[in-house]
Amino acid sequence: MGKVLIIGAGGVGTVVSNKVAQNNGTFTGIMLASRTKSKCDAIAGDVKRRTGVTIETAQVDADNVSELVKLFNGYKPELVINVALPYQDLTIMEACLECGVHYLDTANYEPKEEAKFEYKWQWAYKERFEKAGLTAILGCGFDPGVTSVFTAYAAKRHFDEIHYLDIVDCNAGDHGKAFATNFNPEINIREVTQKGKYWENGQWVETEPHEIHKPLTYPGIGPKESYLIYHEELESLVKNFPSLRRARFWMTFGQEYLTHLRVIQNIGMARIDEVEYNGQKIVPIQFLKAVLPDPGKLGENYTGETSIGCRIRGVKNGKERNYYIYNNCSHEEAYKETGAQGVSYTTGVPATIGAMMFLQGAWKRPGVFNVEEFNPDPFMEQLNKQGLPWHELFDTDPEV
Ligand code: NDP
Repeated sequence: MGKVLIIGAGGVGTVVSNKVAQNNGTFTGIMLASRTKSKCDAIAGDVKRRTGVTIETAQVDADNVSELVKLFNGYKPELVINVALPYQDLTIMEACLECGVHYLDTANYEPKEEAKFEYKWQWAYKERFEKAGLTAILGCGFDPGVTSVFTAYAAKRHFDEIHYLDIVDCNAGDHGKAFATNFNPEINIREVTQKGKYWENGQWVETEPHEIHKPLTYPGIGPKESYLIYHEELESLVKNFPSLRRARFWMTFGQEYLTHLRVIQNIGMARIDEVEYNGQKIVPIQFLKAVLPDPGKLGENYTGETSIGCRIRGVKNGKERNYYIYNNCSHEEAYKETGAQGVSYTTGVPATIGAMMFLQGAWKRPGVFNVEEFNPDPFMEQLNKQGLPWHELFDTDPEV
């Protein structure tokens, strides 16, 4: 049991605030802080109406370590749940070290000026967290997060060795907008427009963006065109499961979405460098974010569901085996429960469960860890209780 400080008041912050409040036997005090305090107040008001639980709020610029230190020393949380943007990971980790606070996030650090996410910056904090006796839990959303725990669970329970991993991420939802991203547009567009990359026979293979694609069948949804993209959990999974011969990540995109994305890129609106406009410097992708629909507000008319899982091949007792583990999440149900859509929900629920795992002692160890390095069992149990039930299929056609 202990106090938590949530940083970031977007779609994911909304879900974490709701779920933490629903579990207030474990979370004995809750503060929500972000750049814009009015957003924290609106979420806290909504959570109070839904659950009766009070959340304190504060303003903080999480790019600024001394502001964070002041906030941490004033509130004295046990754990910080970082659901701001990946750019803030390192400043928040620095402040955690300075104040003796444990750390959890859902996305790995990337520098603002280069669209390149990698764990190296955060893994470099390992010794400092170890020496300080503090835990840092990295990538505890759905993907990374649940997909990494699914892999650890499969390796522990169903295989002697895992050889082929395909993470399959389908959003079959419809928000009724011509174009919108399901989480922060800047981070999302940077992620999906980069080159594809997968792991095979001990090395990374690079592809052109969206070069490899095929229809994959998602349970309860049907076939959807799925595109091979690079995703951050592949980096830690191939390190932590060296028996993997190949590891890939697939995501569904509609034709309409891809057309918009191509136009955005072609006209320069995906640029991440500064341009001069009316005597002022602006970054086109940041301007684009300001005019696109707010992902946190997409929930109201969102229908359909997401389906994310892992298709794994390997050996058990000398025999080849296929295994598919997945969760389907309804946008409408997520909205009814928290006021946010399914993509925010599937990220915020695992972040809350990771925080529970830490506060209950199951995932408490000094150092910096990816979630697959912890015992998956208690986390898997909570997924079923907290709104993200999972299902297993054995020896079906893996398609991949
Ligand atoms: P949003 O853009 O909706 O929200 C981000 C929040 O962070 C906003 O409230 C924003 O404040 C705040 N913020 C940004 N910069 C700062 C700063 N310098 N100081 C303080 N607060 C700041 O994003 P989402 O809620 O959609 O996503 C949150 C995180 O979750 C992202 O890191 C994203 O990559 C990650 N994610 C992870 C997934 C997973 O499965 N692992 C899936 C989806 C998302 P303001 O309101 O003022 O802009």
